[in-house]
Amino acid sequence: MKFPSAWLFAFVITAGTVNAQSKPEKTLDIYFIDVEGGHSTLYVSPAGEAMLIDTGSPGPRDADRIMDVIKAAGVTQIDQMILTHYHGDHVGGLEELAKRIPIKHYIDHGPSIEEKEQVAGFQKMYAELHAKATRMVAKPGDKIPFAGTSVVVVTSAGKALKTPIAGAPGAGKPNPACTGFTPRDESHVDPDNPQSVGIVMAYGRFRTVNLGDFTWNVEPELMCPNNPIGTVDLYLTSHHGIDQSGSAALVHGLQPRVAIMHNSTRKGGAVQTMQVLHSSPGLEDVWQLHWAYAAGLEQNSPGLFIANVEDSATIANVLTNPPPTFGQGRGFGLAPSTGPAAGPPPAAAPAGRAGGRGAHTGPAFWIKVSAKPDGSFTVTNTRNSFSKTYAARK
Ligand SMILES: [Zn+2]
Repeated sequence: MKFPSAWLFAFVITAGTVNAQSKPEKTLDIYFIDVEGGHSTLYVSPAGEAMLIDTGSPGPRDADRIMDVIKAAGVTQIDQMILTHYHGDHVGGLEELAKRIPIKHYIDHGPSIEEKEQVAGFQKMYAELHAKATRMVAKPGDKIPFAGTSVVVVTSAGKALKTPIAGAPGAGKPNPACTGFTPRDESHVDPDNPQSVGIVMAYGRFRTVNLGDFTWNVEPELMCPNNPIGTVDLYLTSHHGIDQSGSAALVHGLQPRVAIMHNSTRKGGAVQTMQVLHSSPGLEDVWQLHWAYAAGLEQNSPGLFIANVEDSATIANVLTNPPPTFGQGRGFGLAPSTGPAAGPPPAAAPAGRAGGRGAHTGPAFWIKVSAKPDGSFTVTNTRNSFSKTYAARK
């Protein structure tokens, strides 16, 4: 049947109008990738640019997992590659990743202050990589172009932002959580951690922070006596949720609504870290990349909020045996799990299923955050497809 051309014209006009009205609002999407207690987080701007912060550990496992997420996000190049610092769990995957996807621009804190053999090897490889692209050594206060958002460097090379971020809620005000701050013995902490590049990203009213492995003792240099960042909606727990970072001065000062922890089963989820989070004013939920032995029954979040869980027999073993002595190693004498949970797979195979890659925890699920400029955001656990939307702050 041939339509009269006037009909067709009317149809096109109508369809165009409907399409414009129903077009979904653009979001800032953030993917917290499971690199087993290392770090790699992908940010996709509302304009479609990609920023990757850190690359997980060496070898194909983490590069595979990062590429799985990159493909799921529809990203074809990394526009901004931030290396927070030069430890293997943060930059280890870079060499492999750079073979698989173009990287346009690198950002780091400058030379490593550690004189280790593996650092020297990495620096040589990294110099060759960034010679083929562009590179910036970050300073606090620098702005990183990332279309549709505002990204400010707040820490780098052991220095912290002193000027309040313009327009940020609460920025520049005294931080009452500085009272009672107690320094810790950091003589055993690798010195490159407090050198970490840290950023604050804003999309409209939505604000999030990623400080790499910035450590406990330098947190007051950023946050005290006045807080230059103000409040945030989403906090990536510094340093994987181990208790060498994440003081109340930092966390209670930032007042996040949601924390996401990039822990593994045996790294992060420290009791003290969890206690600071759960006593933080306004905190609504803690999402974890892994169930954590250290957090035990009391401190782990409900399974809905955990992207990767141990097999049920191992968890039962932890829960029904005497509690471990905290601070004495990570393993608590438990045999590592041998694979994914027994029993049938989830009814609907979630998008985040990356397939077994030999990691002791089996498939690697990620946590996705989609934020809107009104400040509302939705967090999704790709293991069980559980999503929760946090309405815009009043
Ligand atoms: Zn680390």
